[in-house]
Amino acid sequence: MCIFCKIVNNEIPSNKVLENDEFLAFHDINPKAPIHVLVIPKKHVESFHEVDGETMAKMTPFIQEVAKMLCIDKSGYRLVTNIGKDGGQEVPHLHFHLLGGGKLRWDHRSDANPQKNI
Ligand code: AMP
Repeated sequence: MCIFCKIVNNEIPSNKVLENDEFLAFHDINPKAPIHVLVIPKKHVESFHEVDGETMAKMTPFIQEVAKMLCIDKSGYRLVTNIGKDGGQEVPHLHFHLLGGGKLRWDHRSDANPQKNI
């Protein structure tokens, strides 16, 4: 079972932001911005490349609600999903990185800490 499925099953703790029957949002353990939350479907889907349109259609308003909860819907945020080896995906369970809380630099190669990445 993948690490995010274990989080869904509460076998691994997470700092949850919001959940419903199908989706879960929780804080990234290694934040790259002042706000860095991961949004996942509870069912195991390997990456964006495998997800079906119906799941994405339901996930969209869920992500928007998470951004509102975090009070970054007006200031703006970045939504990123890494896909496969070249995309830099480390966890093989679809997740969207929701990043915000400050003006984000557009530097996809930076391995910055939360403060330096704004
Ligand atoms: P990616 O490289 O796109 O697959 O991103 C995986 C993300 O999952 C990274 O930003 C990690 O910091 C994060 N991560 C890994 N394990 C955990 C965990 N147990 N709780 C929260 N975030 C995690």
